[in-house]
Amino acid sequence: MNQEARGQSSGARDPGPTESPSPDLPPPASGFADLHLHSSFSDGTYSPEELVSHAARHGLAAIALTDHDTVEGCERAGLACKAAGLEFISGTELTAEQNGNELHILGYFVDIRNSRLLSDLAEFQAVRHKRIHEMVARLNELNVPLEAEAVFALANCRSPGRPHVARALVNAGVCGSMDEAFDRFLKKNRPAWAPKMKISAQVAIDLIHRAGGLAVMAHPGLNRSDHEIPGLVKAGLDGIECFHTKHSSSTSEHYLQLAAQFHLLVTGGSDCHGLSKGKPLIGTVKLPYENVARLKARVASRGSRTPPAVGGD
Ligand SMILES: [Zn+2]
Ligand SMILES: [Zn+2]
Repeated sequence: MNQEARGQSSGARDPGPTESPSPDLPPPASGFADLHLHSSFSDGTYSPEELVSHAARHGLAAIALTDHDTVEGCERAGLACKAAGLEFISGTELTAEQNGNELHILGYFVDIRNSRLLSDLAEFQAVRHKRIHEMVARLNELNVPLEAEAVFALANCRSPGRPHVARALVNAGVCGSMDEAFDRFLKKNRPAWAPKMKISAQVAIDLIHRAGGLAVMAHPGLNRSDHEIPGLVKAGLDGIECFHTKHSSSTSEHYLQLAAQFHLLVTGGSDCHGLSKGKPLIGTVKLPYENVARLKARVASRGSRTPPAVGGD
């Protein structure tokens, strides 16, 4: 996992895979991918184009953009990848719950124009706005003068979240750092925290599937919800994020074993938020490209098996 992927466009290329789903960009037969990235369309600080240029500098062969509750950045990221000779996978990250446990579900290869996906994401974004208003109201009750509009202006996206409130508190001079803002006000059960409405894991998985995507359990090592995996598999889960910045090598190994046991696809990514959480993480988790090829094969086989939707969904 620590070998740099280089020279993808330097000429010498293997005969390559026989199944090439993209006519204009033959996928590389090797290299590495980072399939968990956030842009300024949610709580990352890099634009999609900046993410892609970092990805190219790290020699990545493929990336996915997985902004929270939005696919808005995917078109721009896709164009930038095309220009840079990288493969792009559209994605999003949904917050869900199963039996009271919070889970993040990544959706890969979703159709970013799917009307049901877009309308549901718009609903999730409205819930996010409402939550910002609630947290700001709680801050105001604590005599912290902050306006929701200041948070929205700073977020400048449709998926504002707690990191944006934290940044607004730092900008207003209330807190010295984002960590302090979370510790004093915004962490769960701190005085300005407001609960987040979550959809069930089943709803998240169905939404991703209806948009033609694959549903993957994000950073399972952070959620300590291994006991939920059989239920998620029954609900249609396709894969599990074995490699993540916060997974130790033994944690990754553990989830690789679970992936094999439950016949789940393996993914991995850095969960880079740009500069908002210290140094940018993009490229620090390198998923071998063969895993991307397996994801693509699954999407392709599902596409040919799924009967056409009747009467809309
Ligand atoms: Zn997450
Ligand atoms: Zn994430």
